Amino acid sequence: MQASYLGQAISSRVGEFIELRRDIHAHPELPFEEHRTSALVARKLGEWGYEVTCGLGGTGVVGRLKRGEGHRSLGIRADMDALPIAEEGSREWRSRHPGVMHACGHDGHTAILLAAAKYIARQADFNGTLNLIFQPAEEGAGGAVKMIADGLFERFPCDAVFALHNMPGIEAGKFVFRTGPAMASSDDVFITLEGVGGHGAMPHTCADPIVAASSIVMALQTIVARNVPPLRTAVVTVGALHAGQANNVIAPQATMALSVRALDREVRDLLKARIFELVEQQAASYRVKARVDWRDGYTVLVNTPRETALATQVALDLFGPERVVAQGEPMTASEDFAFMLEKVPGSYLQVGNGAAGSPGACMVHNPAYDFNDDLIEPASRFWFKLAENFLK
Ligand SMILES: [Zn+2]
Ligand SMILES: [Zn+2]
Repeated sequence: MQASYLGQAISSRVGEFIELRRDIHAHPELPFEEHRTSALVARKLGEWGYEVTCGLGGTGVVGRLKRGEGHRSLGIRADMDALPIAEEGSREWRSRHPGVMHACGHDGHTAILLAAAKYIARQADFNGTLNLIFQPAEEGAGGAVKMIADGLFERFPCDAVFALHNMPGIEAGKFVFRTGPAMASSDDVFITLEGVGGHGAMPHTCADPIVAASSIVMALQTIVARNVPPLRTAVVTVGALHAGQANNVIAPQATMALSVRALDREVRDLLKARIFELVEQQAASYRVKARVDWRDGYTVLVNTPRETALATQVALDLFGPERVVAQGEPMTASEDFAFMLEKVPGSYLQVGNGAAGSPGACMVHNPAYDFNDDLIEPASRFWFKLAENFLK
C-alpha cells in the first residue's frame, strides 16, 4: 500500500515540522509584516529545489516545482499571518511578541504546506507544474487580493487552486468538503447620524440621533426577517453603537458599525440596497441626517464541483469514509481565498482541529487557541496525494 508507506515516511519525519510550526507560533507576525515567516518559507523551499519568488503581494512567497513536459499546473495556498491578540497559557512555544498571536492556526497551515513541499520534492511522481502559494495578510487585510494584483496567476498560471483551514469543534484529522458557496461575503458598514444636540430637558428643540439610531437598529433586523428569502442566508450585525455622554444632554451625533454577510451575490446586493434605504429614510423621519459608508470586504467563497470532487476522492482514498464529510455546512465567516477562487477553479476545505471537549476544540481567534500538531501528518499527506493526482 503506497498510502501507508508514504504515511510512515512523512510521520517518521514530521517531528521536524512540529518544531517548525512551534517556532512560527513563537514568532507571530501581523498582516503584511510576515518578514521572518516568509524568509523561513523561502529558505526551506529553496533548499528543497523549488524556484522561489519573494515579495509577491508584499510578503508573499511562491515556490514553483516543474516536472516532465506536462502542461497542467496546480496551486496550493497557505496563509502566514497572525492576529493582534495577547496569547493565554504557558505552553513552551507561546508567542514571544506581546499582543500578537497565531490564534487562527496559520502557523499550522504554513507548516503543513512546507511538510508537503519537502516530501513532494523528494518523492512525488507528477508531470506538470506545482505552485505553492504562501500568502500574507488573510486576516481582513486582503493579502490574496494583493498577490493577485501583483500578477500571481499571470506569473504562475494555475488550472486549479486549493487551500485548507483547521476547524476547532470537528474531530481532529476529519476532512470536510463542500461544493458551491462555502464561506460568506463580509462587508463593513459605518453609519453616522447627525442630529441637533441640546439640553436633555428640551427635546423639542433638538433632533435626537439616539432615538433615530435605536429605531434604525430595530429596522435593520427586518431585512433578514422580511426581505431576504427564507431559504437564503444573511447576517446583519450591529456591532457598535456610540452616542452621548451625559444623562441630561441630547447628543448631536451617533455612530454605528455593521458587519454584513451573505452566501450569494444577489443577497449581498439586496442587503446593501435595503441598508441604504432603511437608514436614510428612517433618519429622515426623525429629522436626522445619515451618512452611510459601505466598504466592500471579502467576497463569497464558492468551491467548484469538479475540483471539490477530486479533492474529496483524494481524502477518501487516503483516510476512508469515516474521516471524510463530502458536503459540510457553509459558514458565515469569510476568507480571502475567495478572491483566488474568483479567478481560478478550485476548492477550500476544512480539517478538524479537535472534537468538542478536546483541547483542539478551542475556537480560533480565542487567546487560549492552539493549532493541533496532529494535523500536520495527514494534511501534508493529503496535499502530496492531491498534487500527484492532479498532475498525473
Ligand atoms: Zn482567522
Ligand atoms: Zn484563519
